[in-house]
Amino acid sequence: MKIFNTLTRQKEEFEPNDPLNVGLYCCGPTVYNYAHIGNLRTYIFQDFLRRTLEFNGYVVNHVMNITDVGHLTSDEDAGEDKMKKGAEREKKTVWEIAEHYTQAFLGDMDKLNLLQPKWKPKATDNIELMIEQIKQLEKNGLTYVGGNGNVYYDTSKFENYGELAQLDKQELRAGERVEIDKNKKNPSDFVLWFVDSKHGDQDMQWDSPWGRGFPGWHIECSAMSMKYLGKQFDIHCGGIDHIPVHHTNEIAQAEGACGCHPWVQYWMHGEFLVLKADKTKEGAKMSKSADNFLTLNLLIRLGYDPLDYRYYCLQSHYRKELVFDWSNNRSESEGLTGARIARKRLTQKVLNLGNKEGTINPQYIDKFTNAISDDLNMPQALAVVYELLDDVSISDADKLSTIKKMDSVLGLNLDEEIIIELPPEIVQWIIERNEARDKKDWAKADEIRDKIQESGKWICKDGVGGTEVVPK
Ligand code: AMP
Ligand code: ZN
Repeated sequence: MKIFNTLTRQKEEFEPNDPLNVGLYCCGPTVYNYAHIGNLRTYIFQDFLRRTLEFNGYVVNHVMNITDVGHLTSDEDAGEDKMKKGAEREKKTVWEIAEHYTQAFLGDMDKLNLLQPKWKPKATDNIELMIEQIKQLEKNGLTYVGGNGNVYYDTSKFENYGELAQLDKQELRAGERVEIDKNKKNPSDFVLWFVDSKHGDQDMQWDSPWGRGFPGWHIECSAMSMKYLGKQFDIHCGGIDHIPVHHTNEIAQAEGACGCHPWVQYWMHGEFLVLKADKTKEGAKMSKSADNFLTLNLLIRLGYDPLDYRYYCLQSHYRKELVFDWSNNRSESEGLTGARIARKRLTQKVLNLGNKEGTINPQYIDKFTNAISDDLNMPQALAVVYELLDDVSISDADKLSTIKKMDSVLGLNLDEEIIIELPPEIVQWIIERNEARDKKDWAKADEIRDKIQESGKWICKDGVGGTEVVPK
């Protein structure tokens, strides 16, 4: 199996430390708001990775953290406290906010058919562990206390700093021009423990050897990953935005504390989903902080199935930017509608094979394995499924068994009937149209039919029991 390693910027043969067991750590959500579909694209890519590893016979020890500590809105140490901002917005405590959005995120994962990680540690349950790691860094001479009392990591003392991001000393110096925290010795230094925060009193605070306060963002991942996966492990994932700061700092902390190099063998990063509301404009980065985000629930309310979005992501490689078109009236995506149609047709083809199973076809499984094992080439893997369906030399029973095996990676539930849930307003129109028809008010019935069809996603028909609506 080959994967692209951000550390070397090359596709490499995957060789885990242990030939059977793989340690996989994925940076989890910050639970101050719903995940947007950009975040979810990253978790979908990680799910393809986990399923591919399992398909290839590995046992995956999968860890994903839940960031529920009030760290800051940007990678910079200055900014707003995300959890506090969420709590103020919704007039709830930070703890309530964290619990609500954690559950919402785990629900999104289930809807998208994402396998749940074996471990989902919360940052707030592991503060002691983080304090221990900071103490170790202090012992190793890599920290200093700033004039404000905060504990900083001295990045000039860590030789390999910036290796992952391929930052050279020149670039690091260039950062000085925008530097704002006067307590830092070097522009790339970052806070390990805050005792002084410009955001006023935090609800989430803990005692520490440096005073009452809260941890910096990056320390939770280096501390918690080692707790579950040991001092060195195989794969660490995230979105590309994490390369220059978050993951760079995680490495400095982990390697600085334990002296192990490399701490993680393979780093994998997913490209961004960008929103293109207006076809003439460049795609805009979707981000929670910018408030321009689309949620999975919004797509569901508009009549899409979460697996349509999974299919949409499957059609492009995880290292390519994915553009999500979005109509100006915020109700439709041509791309997603295309994915829905394709998924529906594909499922129908699989259902048409009947339910008698045969034997798994080794040639097609080989082709499929080669695709997924080539740095998760999912579009190619999907093409193999279509090729198999069109191959007249293979029996339906064998096709079904082979596709079921492939679907253990695709996660599209291809052998299950698609049950369509209609959005409430469409249901209301169906009721009104049936009433109009009962009263033989044909003009009104036609008018409602047009309204349903004008939404662009539904076809309205007269069935035996009254109005029937099916997706386009
Ligand atoms: P957050 O909850 O902001 O910490 O982000 C969760 C995950 O989503 C991280 O791995 C980010 O790198 C990733 N991410 C953030 N924005 C996007 C985006 N627009 N497209 C894809 N992944 C993203
Ligand atoms: Zn992380």
